[in-house]
Amino acid sequence: MALVTCPDCGREVSSQAASCPQCGYPFSTLKEGTAAAAATPLPSPPGGFSRIVGDAERKAKLADHVSQILASGGGWRVESQRDFDALLIQGHRPNHTLHLLLSVFTLGLWLVVWLIVAVASGEHRYRAYVDDYGNARTEKLS
Ligand SMILES: [Zn+2]
Repeated sequence: MALVTCPDCGREVSSQAASCPQCGYPFSTLKEGTAAAAATPLPSPPGGFSRIVGDAERKAKLADHVSQILASGGGWRVESQRDFDALLIQGHRPNHTLHLLLSVFTLGLWLVVWLIVAVASGEHRYRAYVDDYGNARTEKLS
């Protein structure tokens, strides 16, 4: 007589039993259900891949990914964050108020400097996201 382990309470019971004598877990339906589940392939989207991770895990991975980026230094900041992606900006925005004042004081001569600074110190936008398979990724937007 073979013994099987009850998936519900962990007790070893006879494989002939219809249900677990301790907790009443129904083995007969379990066997049928397991066989049916094994025989039915997971539904796949057109790409041929099945979704692996759940929403909660993706959220957690994204939060982890974003915090790692922020901790890496380099002037990162989060512009907006949603459930599964976040908009990140790297770089420093020029102090436009200061440049405006300098331009006024220099009667417009500072405009040239302002323009150069604005072009050279550009900010870069990135999208951090977690794909359906739980991989944290970062793609450059601009
Ligand atoms: Zn049991």
